[in-house]
Amino acid sequence: MTKLYTNFCFPAEINDVVKLFFIDSILVEDVALCDLSLIEQQDGSVFFYVARSAELSEKLQTDTANTDELQALRLRKRYAKLSMYNLLVKLTGKQMPWGSLTGIRPTKLADQLEREGLDWRKTFIEILGVSETKTNLVADILATQGELRKHREGCADLYVGIPFCVSRCSYCSFTSGEIGRLGKYVDPYILALKQDIKATLQFAQNKKIIVNNVYFGGGTPTSLSALQLDELMSCIEIKPVEYTVEAGRPDTIDTDKLTVLKNHGVQRISINPQTFNQSVLDVIGRKHSVADIYDKYALAQKYGFVVNMDLIAGLPTENFAMFCHSVDEAIALQPDNITVHTLALKHGSVLKEQSYGACDVGRMVDYSRERLYAAGYMPYYMYRQKYMAENLENVGYCKPGKACLYNIGIMEEVSDILACGANAISKRILSAENRIERAANAKDVITYIERGDNYLNKKFQLFG
Ligand code: SF4
Repeated sequence: MTKLYTNFCFPAEINDVVKLFFIDSILVEDVALCDLSLIEQQDGSVFFYVARSAELSEKLQTDTANTDELQALRLRKRYAKLSMYNLLVKLTGKQMPWGSLTGIRPTKLADQLEREGLDWRKTFIEILGVSETKTNLVADILATQGELRKHREGCADLYVGIPFCVSRCSYCSFTSGEIGRLGKYVDPYILALKQDIKATLQFAQNKKIIVNNVYFGGGTPTSLSALQLDELMSCIEIKPVEYTVEAGRPDTIDTDKLTVLKNHGVQRISINPQTFNQSVLDVIGRKHSVADIYDKYALAQKYGFVVNMDLIAGLPTENFAMFCHSVDEAIALQPDNITVHTLALKHGSVLKEQSYGACDVGRMVDYSRERLYAAGYMPYYMYRQKYMAENLENVGYCKPGKACLYNIGIMEEVSDILACGANAISKRILSAENRIERAANAKDVITYIERGDNYLNKKFQLFG
């Protein structure tokens, strides 16, 4: 356990940097301290270190001259984190692939730096300590996104959340419940969700908001029956530009459900293997076989869906060679999108409680990137999460012209989101003010069923 003592501004942000090096560090505010921070390691010996921001203070002064208050605050925060990062690099001799960056959207930061008039590549590498490989990745993503990352005023995407799954994966910390266990809530949930969707689309129509893209996520939307999916999708009478359903688990896909999806105009689905190694599927609690992945993919192809496949680097018992096999198998199937996640264990997941630690993940991520580039896929969106193995990232790759617009909109925070369902969050991008406002629905299924109406008004107020 590492303790970070500090009375400096931005303690939480500085602690995020410490967590890059010492995953279980905790923050202790100490008003008696008078410099940036001190660290105590509780391994029998006690060390005190002082991270000095003096070396950066001159640069901070130059950079903050002629900026507004918000920008000055942003820079002070950035340089404080950097001072701590530099100290930890000296102490541990380790460099992080993303340097001092702890934020979840490096592409957004690159964009912002450019708007500040800075050379973002130079800033990433020379100031923030980001590796050249990761900087190039950001550059490639920005190039693939091009015009697609623009905020479209007066438009929004519709998100529909289905918080049910057929079983719980051991790495999952989402609030989704097993559909077998929550059976009695499914019909009332669908009823509440139908009302939510109808009211939201009616509101959008009244406000002349154009709903561009529709996305069913979860959970696993296809853990519902074909009839239930049909009922829900019948509430969506618009013709979106893009219509996506996370089918996710191969064991939830059948001809009846795919027929319903096709009849309602769905163009894109996910069939997520996570791994092509049966022993690993068994360990992580997926109740399907590798053969199911091939079968359901072949079935989806008959319907002409654009398919995304998710893989995860760092799963328990999956070594480097096994992960490479998963990547190679996914590429051999040639889906339009392949998303490579890095295992992130949050509280609430079985693996986190078992203190599982992944290894070799950096090599796995590098392998997937190189293989996917060579096979003609380009990275088109990326995000990072806290507690990710080796502080890496999740990257969505696509074949040319096959990027998922909804993913770009939500991950880059360039699309307004009208969200329906439990634990779904609506978002409004206020570009001129460089701000985002949010309205969250009820977090759990029971509250959503009982009090969903209360949350509708919050959503509508957001869009005024
Ligand atoms: S399918 Fe996804 S949401 Fe469902 S338990 Fe697994 S990781 Fe969690």
